[in-house]
Amino acid sequence: MKEFEGKVAIITGAASGIGKATAALLAKKGAKVILADLSAEKGDPIVEDIKAAGGEARFIACDVAELASVNSMIESCLEEYGQIDILVNNAGIGGDSAFFDQISDEHWNRVIAVNQTGVFYCMRAVLPHMKSQKGGVIVNLASLAGIGSAPRMGAYAASKHAVVGMTKTAAAEYAKYNIRINAVCPTVIRTPMTKGFLQADEAMSEFMRQSIPMKRFGEASEVAQTICWLSSPGASFVTGETVRVDGGHRA
Ligand code: NAD
Repeated sequence: MKEFEGKVAIITGAASGIGKATAALLAKKGAKVILADLSAEKGDPIVEDIKAAGGEARFIACDVAELASVNSMIESCLEEYGQIDILVNNAGIGGDSAFFDQISDEHWNRVIAVNQTGVFYCMRAVLPHMKSQKGGVIVNLASLAGIGSAPRMGAYAASKHAVVGMTKTAAAEYAKYNIRINAVCPTVIRTPMTKGFLQADEAMSEFMRQSIPMKRFGEASEVAQTICWLSSPGASFVTGETVRVDGGHRA
């Protein structure tokens, strides 16, 4: 029997990068995966790939920053599968490149809406179901920017610190219902989110690489492995934790 056989997992932002790798890995390990992301155009081919590899997957269009969209995605999932065992709050948008006094209202509001309020909406929507199921797992994508400074990424850092705060608080509140809630905090991972800035400034990119003790950036698959472990019975006594996936960056 596969590790996640019989489990239903929602992965937000699953049409790219870390979410895509996580959906593929959870499906490979037997979970039925729901890929929630903005557009089916990007999501559908990933669902097809997962199915071709023998997994079970479905795409549901969802903007995590919109309450109605989140609620409808959760309802569709429950209608089809009747349960939600794992929620991976992965959808996120990247940082600006502005010092704090230059952050625009527009940028601030969008980053907070997606990275912070989106995680809140999704957690709030699934927790009652996990409670009535008497169990569940939530893994939130924070960042090293959620546990320390992130110069010129003020809105992003604020949103990711909020993710860590929500993770710890909800973990303490829901542990008695057998619901575990953890956050992962990656350093720079090679995904479409980081491709642009890594290519735009090679000197800065090299400086950042050298500041990581393992002297390389991470891969989406490495974060996916950590998310799967946190979602698995192997992490049965781990909750309220922030797990760095950073090649020793913050060691
Ligand atoms: P990515 O840009 O490759 O993928 C993000 C996905 O989220 C995209 O498919 C996008 O369409 C989706 N998305 C964006 N806004 C959405 C919304 N409102 N509703 C639903 N889906 C939405 O990014 P990634 O690098 O794979 O990052 C995934 C998560 O990991 C993010 O939360 C990010 O902040 C976090 N993270 C990434 C890194 C990194 O270096 N890549 C480091 C630390 C944390």
